[in-house]
Amino acid sequence: WQSKRVAVVTGGNKGIGLEVCRQLASNGVAVILTARDEARGAAAVDMLRAAGLSDVIFHQLEVTDARSIARLADFLKARVGKLDILVNNAAVGGAEYVPDLVYPSANVEDPFAGMDEGQMSEWMRRNIRETYNSAEETLQTNYYGTKNVTEALLPLLQSSTDGRIVNVSSVIGQLRYFVSEELKQELNDAGKLSEERLDEVLGAFMEDFTAGAVEARGWPVGFSAYKVAKAAVNAYTRILARRHPELRVNCAHPGFVKTDMNRLAGLLTPEQGARNVVTVALLPAGGPTGFASGHEAPFV
Ligand code: NDP
Repeated sequence: WQSKRVAVVTGGNKGIGLEVCRQLASNGVAVILTARDEARGAAAVDMLRAAGLSDVIFHQLEVTDARSIARLADFLKARVGKLDILVNNAAVGGAEYVPDLVYPSANVEDPFAGMDEGQMSEWMRRNIRETYNSAEETLQTNYYGTKNVTEALLPLLQSSTDGRIVNVSSVIGQLRYFVSEELKQELNDAGKLSEERLDEVLGAFMEDFTAGAVEARGWPVGFSAYKVAKAAVNAYTRILARRHPELRVNCAHPGFVKTDMNRLAGLLTPEQGARNVVTVALLPAGGPTGFASGHEAPFV
């Protein structure tokens, strides 16, 4: 493995994460496929190895568990000795949908393409249900999981000559889905953003969620915790890129992909969805940092 680049992929047992592992390994990268469930993760590794991709190994990782994160970091330090690429892919959808959900647009990039904020809110009110627990789980997994895994693995990435972080984000985390101009400006101000401020913003979201004031306070409506968490991931990406010019830190949106997250309603295959993530992970040295790439085009 010393002659190869080494990547860690979170949530690698299925969906887009599994395809990211396959494509990285096919491009000569040694891959540590992680999953929270040992059996599901080991089965995914067996499948890739049976397909001839021998440089893929499994390590358990539950991104909301500090001890699990520490065990992965210790394993990497002691047994692998380096890390070149971190793909933060693990996430939850964080909402219940009406049965037989039909998405409004057949656009491969964005299932809500062409809708204005009012139409989108109306569609969300009719089709999506979120609870306090689902909102909390979504912030903890999608934002804090990404952040805590990143912090634990940063020292290893910094020892790489060309360390990269790819945060798998979403077009629906774009600030255009926020109604409050104040929140939009705050989350867009790359110069002033900090992790502490992001904690406060997410805390305020949960308070408003609990008070039933999501819409009144100008947060995105429908998949609100998912959108807020991905907006925080986008902001965190820019904070990291600014603070660590020695690394390439970017977001990648996979497109609207047929996975369990949308009950297989997506339009792209996981293989197609993984392509943009892998392209961003393998950009030539000296490429962009602090940016977001869409399935078809950059969106930030
Ligand atoms: P899936 O539901 O198919 O896969 C999600 C993966 O994340 C699974 O491996 C799941 O593990 C894992 N995961 C969830 N919670 C945790 C946790 N706490 N610790 C570790 N692993 C966890 O979804 P997708 O493949 O669609 O999603 C992959 C990424 O792509 C996500 O970041 C998602 O937000 C993003 N995305 C997806 C889009 C789509 O259209 N599908 C569109 C835009 C973005 P387990 O099997 O154990 O549940």
